[in-house]
Amino acid sequence: MSLDAALRQARDRFVAANPRSRAAHEKAAEAMPGGNTRTTLFYPPFPLTMASADGCRLTDLDGHTYVDLLGDYTAGLYGHSNPVIRKALDAALDGGWNLGAHGEHEARLAVVLCERVPSLELVRFTNSGTEANLLAIATATLHTGRRTVLVFDGGYHGAVLAFGDGGVPVNVPHRFVVGQYNDIAATERLVAEHAADLAAILVEPMLGSGGCVPATPEFLRFLRDLATATGAVLVFDEVMTSRVAGGGMQELLGITPDLTTLGKYTGGGMTFGAFGGRADLMAVYDPRRPGAVPHAGTFNNNVLSMAAGHAGLTEVFPPEVSRELFVRGEDLRAELNRIGGTVMRWTGLGSMMTVHFQREPIAAPRDMRSTPAQRELFHLDMLDRGFHLARRGMIAMSLEIGAAECAEFCAAVSGFIADYGGLPR
Ligand code: PMP
Repeated sequence: MSLDAALRQARDRFVAANPRSRAAHEKAAEAMPGGNTRTTLFYPPFPLTMASADGCRLTDLDGHTYVDLLGDYTAGLYGHSNPVIRKALDAALDGGWNLGAHGEHEARLAVVLCERVPSLELVRFTNSGTEANLLAIATATLHTGRRTVLVFDGGYHGAVLAFGDGGVPVNVPHRFVVGQYNDIAATERLVAEHAADLAAILVEPMLGSGGCVPATPEFLRFLRDLATATGAVLVFDEVMTSRVAGGGMQELLGITPDLTTLGKYTGGGMTFGAFGGRADLMAVYDPRRPGAVPHAGTFNNNVLSMAAGHAGLTEVFPPEVSRELFVRGEDLRAELNRIGGTVMRWTGLGSMMTVHFQREPIAAPRDMRSTPAQRELFHLDMLDRGFHLARRGMIAMSLEIGAAECAEFCAAVSGFIADYGGLPR
């Protein structure tokens, strides 16, 4: 069967199976453009609307239940009903919210993060990873008095800091230069033109949204040295990658950036972002100091994120659990690559991975060969088999994904390969 024919059949099956999700989408589109308020969640012909979630399972409006392998793009590390997180949220609510004042929760969370993440001497909270990165860049430009920010093709640092496919029209108007990920020689050439004005180097230790492509240790070490040599501020965006170890990729590799940004699961699954690092850089926000730089935000210390984040890190996801999850993910990816044979390559790190329909290695987005049609067929087919993952083929295992779910997923992927074989373009 041709890919087009397979895709038509898969779409027809999806539409027939999901009338309630379709109606919900149409209703939502009356009040939100495309019925959507988070672009990543949209896929044609219409996205499923979930009605409930429990453990590692999601149930949609039409009553289908899925194993949730997406884990909210890494924010859902704790699954959907972790009792420890629930207890922390209940206790925080019992204490009252919208305090409009310092609470006890934020300092507790800050202390844990500074203990765990090597670069964090001081940290501040935001409401999203996007905001955390905006503030990290602002901190760097302020500190250096320079304007240029080196980012990388395929990098994603937030809604207004997206550098895949040439960037997005809503990006903030910084002076960005876009380098090639994992390409030391090209980055050296690029920076030679900009070294005197280089304020920051902003990099994900693994391109997350950009296809789960890990940086080589050599590349990150090169960026560390480059920042030191040019006086630029090295920022590791560990919004996704911090889960690979108690102290994130920087701990795993022993490479310490000047600033780090965090987000996603670190707030226990609640709204969250954080930026922090060297005390001399972060001290500008110390309001006791004359001329301190303001960093406001109504919800920066909201009690739910602060309490859930602290309970999650200390009671559910201590460093040894992060190591176990890492190994479970590495094992799953190895098995998927074995099953994938010549058809698929699963890239990633630990519990985060993305499927690519090629065998050629991938060091940067320019090496990727998968077509939108291949991704759509895989996504619709996995939904049909009871697995929820991203349209772009990304998985982020939650702590609720155990050996049984991994085995079932491997069987589903084998089934896909048996049905569609070499997957023509
Ligand atoms: N950085 C990275 C690496 C991310 O993956 C994301 C979110 N996908 C962000 C920043 C932005 O975080 P948020 O969606 O909370 O703004």
